[in-house]
Amino acid sequence: MTLVLNQVTKRFGKETAVNHLSLKIPEKEMFGFLGGNGAGKTTTFRMILGLLDITEGEITWNGERINYSKSHLIGYLPEERGLYPKLTVKDQIIYLGKLRGMRKKEIVSELESWLERFKVPEYMNKRVEELSKGNQQKIQFISAVIHKPKLLILDEPFSGLDPVNVELLKRAVIDLKEQGTSIVFSSHRMEHVEELCEHLCILHKGNPVVEGSLREIKRSFGKKNLIIHAD
Ligand code: ATP
Repeated sequence: MTLVLNQVTKRFGKETAVNHLSLKIPEKEMFGFLGGNGAGKTTTFRMILGLLDITEGEITWNGERINYSKSHLIGYLPEERGLYPKLTVKDQIIYLGKLRGMRKKEIVSELESWLERFKVPEYMNKRVEELSKGNQQKIQFISAVIHKPKLLILDEPFSGLDPVNVELLKRAVIDLKEQGTSIVFSSHRMEHVEELCEHLCILHKGNPVVEGSLREIKRSFGKKNLIIHAD
């Protein structure tokens, strides 16, 4: 299920947020979008998901446009985190899992194993508002993967996390990739992309600066330049 972006452009009024972006994201890979503030990463993800209309160009996944009928195949960790603060973790995830067609028993069993993995089994019956921002982020990550999506889109998954939680989440992402999930994620930081991705695209003010395999990019540009573009 290759994800293909063909000359994709998004304009908001006179401002061009993404400018003629063309990419092929192979399945079962981890692909990174690297760029600073306003580079166009979130806008690109929203177009991939069908949350935003594309001004020009086309995005297909396995030859078809992504729409709501495919939402059970896709997981999304949005940049603006959003959970229901008064719900318990369990009720929150059951609600989201059911929206993706899962049965309650299956959801609870998956949630148990994720909470164990994140070393917070006691959070099952805690209200979301009782958790720290970092722990809420872990719950939001679980909500994105509870239904075992084939394509997982993570918008700055490591931002705001302490180093221990960054490592926990990285390990989880690597395992999902090894189990066959295609993963697209964004970051401001070269080191995350470098550690996790085989292919990447660097965006700067909506323009694709460079795209390709990490090895090719490093060979052509040198690591120093990549860091300058990223921030
Ligand atoms: P960040 O790392 O800060 O989240 P980003 O790479 O995700 O940045 P985007 O959020 O995609 O960048 O924003 C790209 C550009 O598009 C920015 O200039 C932003 O102000 C603009 N933009 C995004 N959404 C809208 C919108 N709904 N209306 C108008 N302009 C928008």
